Amino acid sequence: MTDYKKIKLKPKKEASLKRFHPWVFSGAIASIDQGVDEGDIVEIYANDDSFLGVGHYQIGSIAVRIVSFQKREIDTSFFIERLTQAYQLRNALGLIRNDNNTYRLVHGEGDMLSGLIVDIYGSMAVVQAHSVGMHMSRKMITTGLENVLNKSLSHVYYKSETTLPFKAPINPEDDFLMGGADIDKIALENNLKFQIDWEKGQKTGFFIDQRENRSLLEKYSYNRSVLNMFCYTGGFSVYAMRGGARSVTDVDSSGKAVMLANENIKRNFGDDDRYKSSSDDAFKFLKEIPNDAYDLIVLDPPAFAKHRGAVRNALQGYKKLNFAAFEKIKTGGIVFTFSCSQVISREQFRLAVFSAAAISGRKVQILHQLSQPADHPVNIYHPEGEYLKGLVLHVY
Ligand code: SAH
Repeated sequence: MTDYKKIKLKPKKEASLKRFHPWVFSGAIASIDQGVDEGDIVEIYANDDSFLGVGHYQIGSIAVRIVSFQKREIDTSFFIERLTQAYQLRNALGLIRNDNNTYRLVHGEGDMLSGLIVDIYGSMAVVQAHSVGMHMSRKMITTGLENVLNKSLSHVYYKSETTLPFKAPINPEDDFLMGGADIDKIALENNLKFQIDWEKGQKTGFFIDQRENRSLLEKYSYNRSVLNMFCYTGGFSVYAMRGGARSVTDVDSSGKAVMLANENIKRNFGDDDRYKSSSDDAFKFLKEIPNDAYDLIVLDPPAFAKHRGAVRNALQGYKKLNFAAFEKIKTGGIVFTFSCSQVISREQFRLAVFSAAAISGRKVQILHQLSQPADHPVNIYHPEGEYLKGLVLHVY
């Protein structure tokens, strides 16, 4: 077995690791072996020299991301083992089908691979590293994916330019790790076609985490006029159209996003005059529409708070946005409202929506409380992995 360099913790700093929380904060470290570089695999020991875990070292507040609590080699067979477990779970969840080839294969800590995201779009795997260690491991990860996905994999695209720490001594370039640009970019989600722009799109090109919430929206769409704010590639709208909505309107401040949404509607429904779209600011758009124009509104904004310092302003933002929807929605209307800010708790979000409802004076019932789907699992020892929360509200 490789003799990995060691990091020793200060006294009494081992408790969270003993409870399997996979992060070591820099303040907990007493000593680091000579010559440890960013991205290196290191072994972590408590102050009494008992072994705690193996992980990737990085400069910053999260200094080590543990990938195993057992003493073991972090090699290709380690990745094959973890990826196999992840694949078997998605298979058991029924997500790998002829009519659904879009799913998240690896969700970081949720799959005991802290720092790694892998999304699957048909025969394409998009790999995203959030730690220098995973960046260094990208070849092993690719071999692991080939091994686990076999013939169903033809391409691997590495998309980490914006997710790796800026100051790390690496120069990550987004590029193919397997195959080339010759691949069809259409993926299927619940038998609906979506074009995935893994090169230039947000995240890995698509918001897979809303799949089940979109399915729920489909059931509410029949004969309703649907307004999909922050539409991005129009995921919710495509489901609303299939659900028999009377009309569907997509709004996003990005013209490029609106174009992608238009194309996705066309790809599934051709020229359908129930559909409209607008490249506009959500707050401005909501202010300008007449009352009662819509009876189903989706609010799925980008994370308003990306760190703890931004929580107060973000809560104000959610309150303002939801108030604007409550002011305008038709009596008996439905609001699907979301927050994907990891630093905002379910309770805080609900309180912001409650305040918005109270100011609007509307009567509001909570019909569903939503979250991220099972291919974005939360490791129970790492509650930070829970980020998506949503409410379905009946407004009258
Ligand atoms: N609902 C989408 C994901 C939304 S991502 C889906 O299911 O795929 C958030 C989107 O909000 C991005 O496309 C971004 O361009 C858009 N956005 C950000 N600020 C905005 C604003 N002020 N008004 C309208 N759209 C905005």
